[in-house]
Amino acid sequence: MKISMASDHGGFELKATLLKALAGTAEVLDLGPYEKASCDYPDYAMKVAADVASGRADFGILVCRSGIGMSMAANRFQNVRATICHTVDAAVTTRQHNGANVLCLGADIVSPEYAVEIAKAFLATPVDNDERHARRRMKLERAGRLSDCSGLMHDDPEIFAAIKAQVDQEDSEINLIASENTSSRACREAAGSVLMNKYAEGYPGKRWYSGCLPVDAAEELARKRACELFGAEHANVQPHCGSAANMAVYFATIRPGDTIMSLSLDQGGHLSHGSPVNFSGKIYNIVPYTVDRETEMLDYDALERQAMEVRPKILLSGASAYPRTIDFKRIREICDKVGCLMVVDMAHIAGLVAGGAHPSPVPYADFVTTTTHKTLGGPRGGMVLCREKYAKALDSAVFPGMQGGPLENIIAAKAVCFREWMLPEKKDYAAQVVRNCKVLCKTVQDRGYRIVSGGTDNHLFLVDVKTTKGITGKDAAAALDAAGIVVNKNTIPYDTESPFRTSGIRVGTASVTTRGMREQEMIAIGTWIADVLDNIADTSVQARVKEEAKKLAQRFLVP
Ligand SMILES: *Cc1c(COP(=O)(O)O)cnc(C)c1O
Repeated sequence: MKISMASDHGGFELKATLLKALAGTAEVLDLGPYEKASCDYPDYAMKVAADVASGRADFGILVCRSGIGMSMAANRFQNVRATICHTVDAAVTTRQHNGANVLCLGADIVSPEYAVEIAKAFLATPVDNDERHARRRMKLERAGRLSDCSGLMHDDPEIFAAIKAQVDQEDSEINLIASENTSSRACREAAGSVLMNKYAEGYPGKRWYSGCLPVDAAEELARKRACELFGAEHANVQPHCGSAANMAVYFATIRPGDTIMSLSLDQGGHLSHGSPVNFSGKIYNIVPYTVDRETEMLDYDALERQAMEVRPKILLSGASAYPRTIDFKRIREICDKVGCLMVVDMAHIAGLVAGGAHPSPVPYADFVTTTTHKTLGGPRGGMVLCREKYAKALDSAVFPGMQGGPLENIIAAKAVCFREWMLPEKKDYAAQVVRNCKVLCKTVQDRGYRIVSGGTDNHLFLVDVKTTKGITGKDAAAALDAAGIVVNKNTIPYDTESPFRTSGIRVGTASVTTRGMREQEMIAIGTWIADVLDNIADTSVQARVKEEAKKLAQRFLVP
């Protein structure tokens, strides 16, 4: 057990007594002060609260004259539940019911001997997992999440209501949208920060406006961390979204009318890879490639033959609905043979790449584009990685080529996200996303549903509901939505339905894995999906699943 302890000058002696009394029973860290000069209690409450909030300490103990100032200061931190206790009974109850993790004591109120008794009782009492206490603690946590916008509650109740509705939705539904994830609190803090206030056209050290030192520091960190995380030579972290990242690469490298070969949109490609309704399809000559009709996977030999014939300027790979590993080494060989640029859009799999659960395109590609909000789980945004020799062309394509001022608050959130990915547990996360996906996929498959390409290697899979049940993806997604399970309709290779109806649904596991769900939960969810689709017109099945899905979601709250 790890305990972090601190006081102000008023609690200095009692802290010393407590340190001594608890030294044998736990690992106790004294965070100060170390001499009895006048000091400010929030400074010390903050130290202990930060330890408890981050999990560095299991418990905190704070001492001042009354305990009140300390508790007010500590309770401003997420995950901290600080309580003032001046009886042993109160200490036991607040542990059991409220799951309190910081004890605040008033040196003027309790005797040193009794304070030690209170602290021992507090530390020894386990949290009561009775349903009603658990439910109330959950409500406390949710209040914490909404406190991000407690100002809005007063200033703009309509927008506050929208945010609250999103919190409610996330807490009560199972989100299997393959392109979404659950952002960390740290990312959201950076994204909502005052860095939003700054105009910073240009790049760190070369801005058009004064006063850019703070945002320069943030953007430099984002660039550096991106290069380190992905092993890239250069990073541009300014693109506002993934489509803008792709646009920047096209603008940096080819001319209007030049040829791009990319995976056809209805087979898993992306709008910005050359759809006729998108800028990419309007400006460039797009030649789509397809997956093999039988295996529903990329056929690299066929791709090579086609590329040799078409001779594109760019061979673009990457997809938004391709459930298999992409062989970037093989694609490099094709690009070398053709003499074209290799561009990889890893928007969907960036987190798997960062966590080592999918081979990285970075060693092979000339340019790698990505979003930062899909499996990567950061803020909504884009990024381009490239070799040093393209750095200048890329940077000027982004600014002044296509964007004005960068969103420095979002760039800071990207930096936070990249740092999070350097933590060792993220490797486990990426591997768990894939494991979860395989288990969920197999559960649905074992109930008789045809899976496109027969399975999955990554964070998503496609269910062919048309062949299996004669229903459309649109109806399947609507029925699941009514049952609290959120997926999207999706075309499947060689789909005979329109893009508005589709034959398939796309299912992804990034978000549920971030929330801590594992194989066991995937089996439950897969069973519910099959139950709902087996009985697509039966609203009582939907109602039953919705109840169960809600119970499950509430066990895995969004951070
Ligand atoms: C999501 C996605 C993008 C970009 O999406 P934005 O909505 O513009 O951020 C680009 N490429 C692929 C393959 C994607 O899946």
